[in-house]
Amino acid sequence: MNFELSEEQQMIRDTVRDFAEREIKPVAQELDEKAEFSYDITAKMGELGLFGMYLPEQYGGQGLDTLSYIIAVEELARIDSSQAATLAAHNSLGIGPLYYYGTEEQKMKYLPQLCTGKALWGFGLTEANAGSDSRGTKTTAKQDGDEWVIDGSKIFITNGSADINIGSAVQVVSGEENGRKIFSTILVDKGTPGFKTVTMHGKMMWRASDTAELYFDDCRVPKENLLGEIGQGSKIMLSTLDNGRLSIGAMGLGLAQGAFELARDYGNERKQFGKPVNQFQVNAFKLADMALKIELARNLLYKACWLKDEGKPFGKESAMAKLYCSEIAKEVADEAVQIHGGYGLMKDYDIERHYRDQRLLQIGEGTSEIQRLVIARYVNS
Ligand SMILES: Cc1cc2nc3c(=O)[nH]c(=O)nc-3n(C[C@H](O)[C@H](O)[C@H](O)COP(=O)(O)OP(=O)(O)OC[C@H]3O[C@@H](n4cnc5c(N)ncnc54)[C@H](O)[C@@H]3O)c2cc1C
Repeated sequence: MNFELSEEQQMIRDTVRDFAEREIKPVAQELDEKAEFSYDITAKMGELGLFGMYLPEQYGGQGLDTLSYIIAVEELARIDSSQAATLAAHNSLGIGPLYYYGTEEQKMKYLPQLCTGKALWGFGLTEANAGSDSRGTKTTAKQDGDEWVIDGSKIFITNGSADINIGSAVQVVSGEENGRKIFSTILVDKGTPGFKTVTMHGKMMWRASDTAELYFDDCRVPKENLLGEIGQGSKIMLSTLDNGRLSIGAMGLGLAQGAFELARDYGNERKQFGKPVNQFQVNAFKLADMALKIELARNLLYKACWLKDEGKPFGKESAMAKLYCSEIAKEVADEAVQIHGGYGLMKDYDIERHYRDQRLLQIGEGTSEIQRLVIARYVNS
């Protein structure tokens, strides 16, 4: 066993940490307050090569391993979840299905531009009445000659309505067999007649990331826009979520690390009863427990990445990492606010944003309850 990062992985950590401290930290609070998506930061993340990191070079990527990508998400989330969300959703949910299931023609058409930071792609699974239960999907795609005709809508789609979004992969019901729905995945380019995106406002967290509703009304796309094969929709969705869970895990881990550091630094400065509050044993023990949880989360997540890179099954570990990292992010952020006292509740302090941002992690890409269902299936069969 080797717990050491490679030189390349260490360099990626240092580079992304420096970028996040320099380019994101100074503006994160303002972007959050204004609920403003940053095209500038997205383009800079592209210039740094963070989009499509794990793709081969011929598609515009850098041929890096999963752990390198996960470290990049972790380092962004240490500073700001909104920017980490833009990166994680685009890489895991946007680029992932195109890379793993696209034809050569589809890959060459979309992937190189999606690696630049100047174009984003969405993954449309969730619907108003199909959240945890994706079999409730109602959006349909019917074949009409050489076209698919799509009708329905999607909700909560990350990166779906930003100006630089160029389309989304959409989970649809493409038919029925013996009373069971047949699910397929279809690529829909932005600008296709009958396809409309609407930005969702009023989020409590990830306020500087883009979240959208997608509407399809007699929306016609060429039959070549099918991703994978007819009936492969569920498989595409499940494998996309296995990968996506690693990046949500990385967001939990990075946020917990950031919250821990804020609590450590604040509590070493803040004096009450004549000494820094972190010298009270109760707070020192809080820091010890936070560090322990972060260490466990990192080991679990990195092991899941290692399994994936070794070509071994990683679905169970990916669900465990998503569940554990997102749950400890909640616990660590909560204790970090406690160490900040009243100041931790003020927007001037970064911990207030971390505290709100962690709340999505136990809900997006499969809630904590659904992760337990997934893990139970693995361990109890
Ligand atoms: C900011 C944001 C970004 C998102 N990005 C995307 C995206 O890019 N693409 C996309 O497709 N979706 C996206 N989502 C949707 C997200 O994946 C769903 O919100 C999530 O899967 C939960 O679905 P739901 O909100 O409908 O909750 P519901 O499924 O309605 O669940 C409500 C509650 O019931 C519980 N529950 C449901 N079923 C069970 C069960 N069988 N057993 C036990 N408990 C159960 C849940 O755990 C939860 O606590 C995003 C959501 C948000 C908020």
